[in-house]
Amino acid sequence: MLGQMMDRPLLISMIARHAEQWHANREIVSVTADQPRHRYTFREALTRARKLSNALTRGGIKHGERIATLAWNDFRHFEIYYGVSCAGFVCHTINPRLFEDQIAYIANHAQDRWLFLDPAFVPLIETLQPRLPLIEKFVVLTDDAHMPATRLPNAISYEALLAQESGDFDWPDFDENTASSLCYTSGTTGDPKGVLYSHRSTVLHAMSAALPDSMNLSSTQTILAVVPMFHVNAWGLPYLGAMVGAKLVFPGAKMGDPETLQQLIESEGVTFAAGVPTVWQGLIAHLEKSGKRVDSLKRVLSGGSAVPVALMDQMRDKYGVEVVHAWGMTENSPLGTVCSFSPEVHRLPVAQREAQRGKQGRAVFGVEVKIVDENDTALPHDGKAFGALKIRGPWVASGYYKSGDSAAFDRKGWFGTGDVATFDPFGYMQITDRTKDVIKSGGEWISSIELENLAVAHPAVAQAAVIAIAHPKWQERPLLVIVPKPGQKPAREELLNFFVGKVAKWWIPDDVAFVDKLPLTATGKLSKLQLRQQFQDYKLPESTPGR
Ligand code: AMP
Repeated sequence: MLGQMMDRPLLISMIARHAEQWHANREIVSVTADQPRHRYTFREALTRARKLSNALTRGGIKHGERIATLAWNDFRHFEIYYGVSCAGFVCHTINPRLFEDQIAYIANHAQDRWLFLDPAFVPLIETLQPRLPLIEKFVVLTDDAHMPATRLPNAISYEALLAQESGDFDWPDFDENTASSLCYTSGTTGDPKGVLYSHRSTVLHAMSAALPDSMNLSSTQTILAVVPMFHVNAWGLPYLGAMVGAKLVFPGAKMGDPETLQQLIESEGVTFAAGVPTVWQGLIAHLEKSGKRVDSLKRVLSGGSAVPVALMDQMRDKYGVEVVHAWGMTENSPLGTVCSFSPEVHRLPVAQREAQRGKQGRAVFGVEVKIVDENDTALPHDGKAFGALKIRGPWVASGYYKSGDSAAFDRKGWFGTGDVATFDPFGYMQITDRTKDVIKSGGEWISSIELENLAVAHPAVAQAAVIAIAHPKWQERPLLVIVPKPGQKPAREELLNFFVGKVAKWWIPDDVAFVDKLPLTATGKLSKLQLRQQFQDYKLPESTPGR
């Protein structure tokens, strides 16, 4: 027997209509190349999104066809999110930091018909254009006054495109499982793979992510989205903000500029921000140097890579900002776990409770998580057993777009994340490694992430990475690679002794290498693959684990 409830589809237009009506006057503030501080309301934004839906429809775009963006976080990108998806088209966000070959591959693989691009990317796309035969129209995200001269065919400014259109567009109802947006994720090998989100997955993800033990968002918040809109839909913030009616602040191309971030936080009264740990490291360094403050900022959601507890302490104790650790991935829309305190953890002795903050936290409602051994048998939640992390849920990918690569998807409907994790008896997950980054010494696993977190707590260390080096007896042993803080020259022995008493003796790295910088991937994460290549001929000194 079926329930007797209305069968209303979960569509992104539902979020848009709600925001237009009930959060109409809430502001969206952006930094763009043509306007240092653009400011308007949700109602104005969504009227312009309807104009865009009209433009795309009149341009002959059909249901399900892909529209690409190569753009920073700002109000126009926000309008594209809604104008494209609500009309039934697919918003394909491309990461401009990818290699040219990858951008061409992705746009062709997705069969994008139009490309909306920031003026700064016009030269790049002019070079690539002969390899993008399917793209019919190039819309530059600016007005005619700031339109760069370009040889791109059918190029038009975004403002000129919208100027011709009416703000009346009746966003249609369709199946909630219809594709809404597309984001490619780069593995370490092979071509990038497309994750195709649906309206249903997007709406459900936003509802769960807003909950108090997740991002804890409401209409009283002002959100600064420092996570790019080309990376997993800016972790859902453009949808979350409209759903709960929070003011949204977009830093545009200035996302990596701590001075702009500090100014935006102070002038707009930002209360909540989300981004990767390097953003917070940069912000803290700027605050320390400039003496400036971020007093309105109360909470920061940090994900994408592990955030060291030392950084959390500094943010909280000196600047009053609580850093909340979260784990996610492109294939998971992205949110999977958040480290908020349960009543049991609140009651722990202070030192133990503080240590929990370094973990990635508990599963959010809607995502099932488990760790398994080589035989796919679930492992205990004892805080010790390491296993491959698997997930399933209504916003987890069930395959890659137009790809035969199904290795990560098992027959029971679980997705293998490629991460290795432990769960403690309180249900808190800790990522100990990527499957391919884990160090296997004498058949036992050593967590490179745990060693890195400890190393960055050393006062002379700016950044740290730990990689496996082949070893004749132990198969692999850890090498600590560090970037010292400016003007600091920590000694090898001092750094290695820093681990004593903090980890098992046989975990302590065999050696330390000093570098000026660490290689990063297109999403700004440490590239262990490149680092391993850099150190592939490295010879460890003769030593025995357990110094
Ligand atoms: P991406 O799909 O590019 O967002 O990358 C997802 C991967 O980033 C995950 O599978 C993890 O390896 C890593 N990751 C995300 N969040 C965290 C975190 N809080 N701590 C450690 N690694 C993380």
